[in-house]
Amino acid sequence: MSEILLKNVYIDDRRTDILVRGNIIAKIADGIEAPEAESIDCSRMAAIPGFINMHTHAAMTMTRSVKEDMKLQPWLQHIWKVEAQYDKDILYWGNKLACLEMIKTGTTCFNDMYWGGDLAALAVDEMGIRAVHSYCMLDNGDMEKAEKERRALIRDFEKSRSFSSRNMFAVSVHAPYTVCEDNMRFAAMFAEQNDLLIHIHLSETEQEITDSQEKWGCSPVEYCERLGLLSERLIAAHSLWLSPHDIELMGAYGVTAVHNVNSNLKIASGYKFPMEELIAAGANVTLGTDGCGSSNNLDMMEALKTAAILQKAWRRNPEAIPLDTLLKIGSENAAKALRLNAGKIEEGRLADIVLIDMNNVFFTPNYNFKANLVYSANSSCVDTVICDGRIVMRGRKVEGEQEILDNAAACGERLMSRIQF
Ligand SMILES: [Zn+2]
Repeated sequence: MSEILLKNVYIDDRRTDILVRGNIIAKIADGIEAPEAESIDCSRMAAIPGFINMHTHAAMTMTRSVKEDMKLQPWLQHIWKVEAQYDKDILYWGNKLACLEMIKTGTTCFNDMYWGGDLAALAVDEMGIRAVHSYCMLDNGDMEKAEKERRALIRDFEKSRSFSSRNMFAVSVHAPYTVCEDNMRFAAMFAEQNDLLIHIHLSETEQEITDSQEKWGCSPVEYCERLGLLSERLIAAHSLWLSPHDIELMGAYGVTAVHNVNSNLKIASGYKFPMEELIAAGANVTLGTDGCGSSNNLDMMEALKTAAILQKAWRRNPEAIPLDTLLKIGSENAAKALRLNAGKIEEGRLADIVLIDMNNVFFTPNYNFKANLVYSANSSCVDTVICDGRIVMRGRKVEGEQEILDNAAACGERLMSRIQF
């Protein structure tokens, strides 16, 4: 079994050794001897758990910066126009590019909402990280389409049985306002029958709340409860416009909320994510970037910093979201939601480890590592990434990186040549 020895690594404000055996963190102790192991001198590095991006659309790297400074609806029309021109090649290289970016910024797992999960799973497999794929149901109330979407979900679920252990599958519902009631109920039932997670966009904009009250006489969260979607299985991206009763419900059912701070800010859909209130109610709070169409990058370190300073700012309270809470949101809470034995550097956990280079201005002096990591550093300090016990980046070099950049750039040109704005 392969072994990696991280020698003299900074963790929990001290230096020690970490032995990775196979895909597990086997031992954390001083002076570990492992003559067979690949030894890495970490005397200038710190180990942190890999970040888990809880809501993204990975292949949307191919829509990065395509249209800017527009209102949501016209912007969406542009994005959908671009996505309609995707082919398998574009989807594959878009996913490869996303994985490359995630590795470079310290993310070892992502929760994806898109189509073509088998191509995404192939990209993830090749790049060595983890992901949860889904088939994103979207019917806009068209009953014929709804039937097709149910069949597509079942087909993709069957395909996912041949995925490797690093690729998981979830049921995905685009949003309550784009999926008919029958398919919302079907998603809940199918997830329960097959023990799958459910991924949804929920309460993202103020308009969504107004429309929901008009159409169903209740909030989107209450509507989800009525249809049987609220449970520990549910991963609710955005969860931005919540009433006190919505928060109570999400806590009582143990729903996972995903804050997509940069996307929300840039699309101007809102910024008062009720982080403290959700945590106090018992909901599981996590963090995501959303797709590159809206957030432009997949950088979880950037998202962590923005999330924290924004909470402090609008609450006018610098004590809001202390560092320990914040860092849990970036990995531990997400691992719990995905039922993954990761998210913490601890003996017996999966070896999903990021090595941070501390030999730079951002960590000097190092009075408070966590503060330096979130508020001072950026993802250029991510030096080495280990996922499932394998080194996927070392000294910021990823195998095949240039090929990915070249192919993704060519795909982008091809994509744009097909579109008339
Ligand atoms: Zn999204």
